Amino acid sequence: MARQSMAIVQTGARKLEVREYPLPEIGVEDALLKMEVCGICGSDYEQYEGAIALSSPVIPGHEPLGIIEKLGAVAAKRWGVVEGDRVAVEVLLPCGYCTQCLSGAYRLCTGKGRMSAYGYTPVDIPPALWGGYAQYMYLDPHTVLHKVSKSVPAEIAVMFNPLGAGIRWAVQMPGTTIGDTIVILGPGQRGLASVIAAHEAGAERIIVTGLARDKRKLDLAKEFGATHTINVEAQDAVEAVKEITGGRGADTVVDVAAYSPQTVVQAIDMVKRAGTVILAGVKAKPVPMLASDKIIFKEIRVQGALGVDFKAYAPAIRLIESGRYPLAKMHTHTLPLEKAEYGIKLLAGQIPGEEAIHIALKP
Ligand SMILES: [Zn+2]
Ligand SMILES: [Zn+2]
Repeated sequence: MARQSMAIVQTGARKLEVREYPLPEIGVEDALLKMEVCGICGSDYEQYEGAIALSSPVIPGHEPLGIIEKLGAVAAKRWGVVEGDRVAVEVLLPCGYCTQCLSGAYRLCTGKGRMSAYGYTPVDIPPALWGGYAQYMYLDPHTVLHKVSKSVPAEIAVMFNPLGAGIRWAVQMPGTTIGDTIVILGPGQRGLASVIAAHEAGAERIIVTGLARDKRKLDLAKEFGATHTINVEAQDAVEAVKEITGGRGADTVVDVAAYSPQTVVQAIDMVKRAGTVILAGVKAKPVPMLASDKIIFKEIRVQGALGVDFKAYAPAIRLIESGRYPLAKMHTHTLPLEKAEYGIKLLAGQIPGEEAIHIALKP
């Protein structure tokens, strides 16, 4: 077995470097994960850009999938796994004792008074290996993990992250059900995952918006169950939704469009009276011209969505294992760890001439 792990370390905004760390001793309550792949998403880009101020260097990577290489006896019992099992690791390390944890909202855990999550915990906290951009990752006793079948290729299995988001944001939070009309603003990996989730939930009309350059993604949305796609450069999205719904508006609008404040305004306009708007695409700036009175007069429920929890990850993994959807069509790139920076920029659409939907980093 290796004694060291290579890792990509972020030392500042847009600064990544390769480092080596010794593998930690594993006790009875923790474990060591041999990384298979790490997914990347828009949050990786925000982190890379410096949206989250770093007090000290971190190993990014909050969507880890790997094989348990060493496992403590107590951890084995708690997690119900054995060495050699493949597991998907949730990003957060909940304390288990604060009010939020005890009420089931462990995503909002405040118990440790600091951000306690894989991909965001400083390397100066031993044993340093707190992120998925590495050959090995340390599994703290507070880890929340899910066993995943090895029959699925790693780069597909790691889609538990976007799919979990789709299930939570497009179905569980708004309560999407049979016969509903749902609009998904933005056809990226989370938008496409929302299509799959809404389709599974029985939504009758699934409408997805995108730009002209998103044609491939919009076509894929149709394969995953979308009934309508709207190119917002050729058509007014609000008008199009009104037309499709006979003037009524959508039951739910899910905004997963990053950095586009105007989609919040559109969502308010295209949702039906007493409908639900889920805001999950980070804009990084305030939304101008938001007519908040419309929220009152239409009695709209506006709900922010941050991350995913056990209740959504578990069915996401079962859905992946079922093979019901051609998820491989969403996976566009597997890149070596050393190309992390390229992958992050590629996902953010900053590499001219190349398009990505889902990217996995492989050590
Ligand atoms: Zn992510
Ligand atoms: Zn807690």
